[in-house]
Amino acid sequence: MVSFRKVTKSYGSLTVLDSLDLDVAEGEMVTIIGPSGSGKTTVLRMLMTLESINGGVIYVDGEPLTHMPKGDHLVPANSRHVRQIRSKIGMCFQQFNLFPHMTALENCMEGPVHVLGMSKKDARERAEDLLAMVGMADKRDQHPSRLSGGQQQRVAIARALAMRPKVMLFDEVTSALDPEVIGEVTNVIRKLVSEYNLTMLMVTHQMGFAKDISDRICFFYGGKIEEQGSPDQLFSNPQKERTQQFLSAVK
Ligand code: ATP
Repeated sequence: MVSFRKVTKSYGSLTVLDSLDLDVAEGEMVTIIGPSGSGKTTVLRMLMTLESINGGVIYVDGEPLTHMPKGDHLVPANSRHVRQIRSKIGMCFQQFNLFPHMTALENCMEGPVHVLGMSKKDARERAEDLLAMVGMADKRDQHPSRLSGGQQQRVAIARALAMRPKVMLFDEVTSALDPEVIGEVTNVIRKLVSEYNLTMLMVTHQMGFAKDISDRICFFYGGKIEEQGSPDQLFSNPQKERTQQFLSAVK
């Protein structure tokens, strides 16, 4: 569903992604872990086209994200093509990024009405269903400033899902939360993993959570995958010295 092929990203002389190859299969939950600065967030931001690409190609659902086929080679895509492919991806950030002047319900209706062209009635129904799914039905008329961090993050997840993405990206979605509300957000993500056949790519520093819910863990080091495997393999029997060092430091 998502493939990075020899993707390179640098800022000046700093190479952040170094000829990265990464695949996420349809319905797979993959978590990226690794030291600060290893390029984890950059992977997600590139999928959202929030960062330009210096080399290589990213494929989403079989199509190149920032390129278009022309004859037998690829050329840079126009913005319409990029928007169309990117619409298959939803993202939740560490900072929830909700629209502050809209209620929870309006936040979840905004994209479906204005981007997808849905009727307000249908968008409202979808938004209400999703807010119920994340346990926020009773807060649907509240503005973000009246909600706790955990509640805002659950609305942000519902808002991303309202666009019916095929791929969901989660970037450190529990990092800005107080410890006592982390569980309510991780439980929503657990529910998504068990009940929806979504493809998901997540960055987290919460190793226990990553171990519980992922099909595969990728350990990043220096903009590359240093080691990857099932949670059991990677956490219980890491093969590479850098993985061992990282895991013993975060335990
Ligand atoms: P963390 O765990 O601390 O969030 P990360 O693995 O997610 O780290 P990235 O955010 O992907 O790391 O950043 C990778 C590197 O790229 C870092 O060294 C960072 O300073 C650098 N970087 C990111 N964005 C920019 C930018 N806009 N300009 C210059 N350097 C940047």
